Amino acid sequence: MLAVSLRCVTRPGGSKLAILVLKNAQLTLQAVQVRAYSSEYSHHEARVESIRNIGIIAHVDAGKTTTTERMLFQSGRTRHLGNVDHGNTTTDFLPMERERGITIQSAAITFQWPPKSLCPPGIEPQTINLIDTPGHQDFRYEVDRCMPILDGAVCILDGVKGVETHTERVWSSAHLSRIPRLLFVNKLDRDGASFRRSVQEVATRLKTWPLLCQIPWWNKDDLWGVIDVIHQHGLRFNTTNGSMNVVSKDSIARDNPALKDEMETARLRLIETLSEHDDQIMEDFLEHEGNVPSSSIKRAIRRLIMDGRARFTPVFAGASLRNIGVQPLLDAIVDYLPSPLDRPPLELTMGMKATTLTQVLEQRIKRKGTHHSEAPIAAIAHVFKVVNDPRHGMMSWLRVYHGTFNRSSNMWNSNTHMFEKPQHILHVSAKDHHSIAHLSTGHIGAMTNLKSARTGDTLITFPGHHGGGNHAPEPFGNLRIKAPDTPPAVAFISIEPYTRTASEKLEEALSKLEREDPSIRWSKNEKTGQLILSGMGELHLEIAQDRLWNHYKIDRDSAVWGDIEVEYSECLLAPTGPHRALYDRTIRDKQGRAGCTVSLEPLEADPGHEHQGALLESAVEREGNILHVSIPLPEDSTTLPFDPDLVRQQLINGAIAGLARGPRRNAPVRRCRVHITFDPATDYFGESVSTGGHITNAALAAVKAALKAAHENKTVGILEPFTRVQIHCPEEAGNAIQHDLVAARGGQVEEVRRPEDMDRSQVIQPFNTPSKGSSGEDGEQGVEEEEEFKVDPSKVYVPPDPYESVDSLRGPKKAVVRMLTIIGKAPLKEMMKYDGHLRSLTGGRHTLVLDPAGFELVVGPRERALEEGR
Ligand code: GDP
Ligand code: MG
Repeated sequence: MLAVSLRCVTRPGGSKLAILVLKNAQLTLQAVQVRAYSSEYSHHEARVESIRNIGIIAHVDAGKTTTTERMLFQSGRTRHLGNVDHGNTTTDFLPMERERGITIQSAAITFQWPPKSLCPPGIEPQTINLIDTPGHQDFRYEVDRCMPILDGAVCILDGVKGVETHTERVWSSAHLSRIPRLLFVNKLDRDGASFRRSVQEVATRLKTWPLLCQIPWWNKDDLWGVIDVIHQHGLRFNTTNGSMNVVSKDSIARDNPALKDEMETARLRLIETLSEHDDQIMEDFLEHEGNVPSSSIKRAIRRLIMDGRARFTPVFAGASLRNIGVQPLLDAIVDYLPSPLDRPPLELTMGMKATTLTQVLEQRIKRKGTHHSEAPIAAIAHVFKVVNDPRHGMMSWLRVYHGTFNRSSNMWNSNTHMFEKPQHILHVSAKDHHSIAHLSTGHIGAMTNLKSARTGDTLITFPGHHGGGNHAPEPFGNLRIKAPDTPPAVAFISIEPYTRTASEKLEEALSKLEREDPSIRWSKNEKTGQLILSGMGELHLEIAQDRLWNHYKIDRDSAVWGDIEVEYSECLLAPTGPHRALYDRTIRDKQGRAGCTVSLEPLEADPGHEHQGALLESAVEREGNILHVSIPLPEDSTTLPFDPDLVRQQLINGAIAGLARGPRRNAPVRRCRVHITFDPATDYFGESVSTGGHITNAALAAVKAALKAAHENKTVGILEPFTRVQIHCPEEAGNAIQHDLVAARGGQVEEVRRPEDMDRSQVIQPFNTPSKGSSGEDGEQGVEEEEEFKVDPSKVYVPPDPYESVDSLRGPKKAVVRMLTIIGKAPLKEMMKYDGHLRSLTGGRHTLVLDPAGFELVVGPRERALEEGR
């Protein structure tokens, strides 16, 4: 039996120091800090090198919210331990989130670590800006959208389930943005948890070398704490308040010699792996005769993960619900993940050209009336989230990459091409907001009362540009931070308002909703008055609908709300010839004229990320189509009578509008390559005649004419969204489910995994491994390196789980139901409400994971059924 007594002393300054005394366990315990509730959180601006902008990424239910809550608690930011199961967490603060126990909107929270009271003299706490991202795949765009603003990420695994589908997805999103990562294997207190299997899956499925910085400390079947592999001691946690005791290696050796041996093996294996890839640590190894200092190991780990390619990933262990492992994870964030200064230059586009922030800042301009030259921009920030807040109205969250924004900053929005000023700048910490004077490089904060900023926009200030004026200095007014493309919608709801007033109210709310979340789109059929709200899936639309009713106070009875339906789209089955349009109607009382020629060609598949790097100079990808614009130079001249970048943009806008409604079902057109030719000799009639509006309308009319011709030739097909399906179910229901999926749902089964297949030797191909060339400009080089770099799962060290030797403890529980995993794909339409159907086949003992799998052509009986409206 363990006997525990606690002595408490108050230190100068009021913080409490508790000394835990364990008897009989022969453990030498050191003094432990019990967290003090001081209001030590301060709003002074942190130095940029001490900032960590971190995202927490994971599959739904892995414990992101719980871990975030525990981090806030340990840092002194909150005084209660929020619990998702009781609906009282700090980050999931929307009523809908609390009700469903899921995180819908990624919330930004700032706190400091270590708390000032725990910092040794002369050491300043670091500021952690934490983004708790949603784990449900319907909100995956929200995760992607946050990626570019993160400098590092913590990926959480459920220690029972290991690497899950969405883990792979967010992992590859982080990969595309080259974000250095840590892994936290959570829920190790749960029955059936396996650190060993989780780490093996990290190697096989995430294809990264796990660097075990910790191993779990199990005492028989109980998780006591973690072993710090680098410093060679144990960390035991009080599961009620998370206070942490350091237990020396000697005590562990006395108590549990096998564990002591394992911790030594773990350190040796860690050093071996590091020294195979890092010369410095090899030198340290030789110099110190094998006894490498902990600080050298930590520096080597940091060096190896800094490039964000995740060839190596430090692994930590714990159970955040039980307060186990949270403080060391926070230490790891501070120690291993980069500050904004450690990141590669920010990628930008200027018009159609790719550039970097460093290249822009290196340019020098001379302003009128000044003698010195200066950088062309003073500050630049990315709007990564817009939210309608009950207290503050429209709030725009931003991350600053360079310079300082303050309340009088005249900010240029390079997407909407407008200047605006914030009312307040806020420091945001979950639902607490504090007004601050300015926001500078590396920081995350929110601005209120911006009129036009949408999620994904870029805000810029220019030197000396305080006053009015409508124009930004060219060409810097087109400078944009690369943001992920909005993926195509796959489902929609139709809304039919009863009155005009109701319609107006709805339209206003829908516009706000769209500003908040660009993956929500809406449109209005002017003839029927019907509104269409489309989004990324069932849950996404349910939440949007709920937000309209509860947040925007739309009266449910003011309209007829349709069911959630699948969004079809249209595509070309053959190329169309060139179609010229001359637009010469009056626009807003202005007579004018412009022309252009358009030809269309089918694309084999949806353009993916891989096109982006190659596309930038000559074409753009929008809504699943690729648009090229060519403007031939006149024979007798070397200059153009207009700004080609501006005209190109106007033509693209027109073409996009033309593709928004196809000729066959009025559905969006996708997978189309659009060639637009604008010949100055025949299509342009001078600045006052060929206005922007006329050029845009010419492109719109030409695209419509080309689509109409294709429809008359019967070369327009229908695409329907498909979804990847992963069903984890009891073995006995497996056959019935496979049969249902294939015969009744038009789906396919690609693989059936049984638990015994999941051993370490098997390398399973994840759904979303980063695609080739996906990293844009430096993609080639990156891919080559990645192809050479292989993780050999058989060489990955991981300690055995305790119950592998103590079978009797967990054996009986594990053997009750044999489960298997069915993997395949099916039309999304057939998978709506499928969870309920599966329940009848499995008695509720299943999990269903759906992940978008692009669009497929509807043919045969499915096409006939669609035509007949069945
Ligand atoms: P999220 O969806 O990733 O944000 O996950 P949550 O934090 O909402 O947690 C999902 C569920 O797992 C909740 O019921 C939590 O109480 C539970 N949970 C989270 N962490 C742990 C843990 O360390 N151990 C156990 N046993 N349960 C946990
Ligand atoms: Mg959550």
